[in-house]
Amino acid sequence: MKINLAKSAGFCFGVKRALEIAFGAAGSQAGVYMLGDIVHNEEVIKEIKKAGVKKIKGLASGSGKALLIRAHGEGLKIYQRAGALGYKIVDATCPMVKEIHQIAKEMENQGYKIIVIGDKKHDEVRGIIGQLKNKALIIDAKAKLPLGQLKKIKKAAVVCQSTQNFQKTQVIVDKLKKHIQQLKFFNTICRPTRAKQEEIKALPRENDVVIIIGSKTSANTQRLFEIAKSLNPRSYWVQSAHDLNKNWFKGINSVGITAGASTPDRTTQEVIKKIRAFA
Ligand code: SF4
Repeated sequence: MKINLAKSAGFCFGVKRALEIAFGAAGSQAGVYMLGDIVHNEEVIKEIKKAGVKKIKGLASGSGKALLIRAHGEGLKIYQRAGALGYKIVDATCPMVKEIHQIAKEMENQGYKIIVIGDKKHDEVRGIIGQLKNKALIIDAKAKLPLGQLKKIKKAAVVCQSTQNFQKTQVIVDKLKKHIQQLKFFNTICRPTRAKQEEIKALPRENDVVIIIGSKTSANTQRLFEIAKSLNPRSYWVQSAHDLNKNWFKGINSVGITAGASTPDRTTQEVIKKIRAFA
């Protein structure tokens, strides 16, 4: 059985950078706290906690403490409140997410209504809308367009969550164009996500079985799985080698493997090792 690992599998540049910042802060400062998970992967979070970073649900007195801002970014209120409470900010926001913040803020200043295509509950989307003065409109790829609200908008700027599926985003933008006179679209899907989405178009066609590795909380892993499954029904999403099922590999010639942006290489290698043992 041939095993084909995607070139883009695993950590993206933003996650690598965020982890370097997190481990660097943990090694050099006394009290480092993260509000929620710095990246969406349970194994990685365990390691960060082991290094001394503590996870908190809310802000308290920040005197002598550092607050680690996660790769997905935060809204302005968190920065302001953390500053007022005395926290030192250690900002691990991915530069590509910062770019989305910049675009959205600039377009808002120019009088555009901001529309974000993304998952309403995702930290990155909350961070983007939390950077703005006015209420942004979030459009979820799976939900219906809010036609009543769209009718009232004369000019809008559209950005998207960095890990969105490009095809689905384009369909939404085309629909929006029919309802909003002046519409500017900024394709803010990040480069690593685009590379992963390009590769995942070929992997399911070229292999009998596809394995996608990543946490169930990872948006980009979910997107990879959705694309793979639509092209090859024998696509499976595993969090670790533990989830593999021997029966998936019976009588097949090849397996294509990729991993989400926050999946450590160690997990991917463990998956490959176990699949080899099945052959
Ligand atoms: S998926 Fe893209 S935006 Fe998110 S952390 Fe990685 S590089 Fe940055």
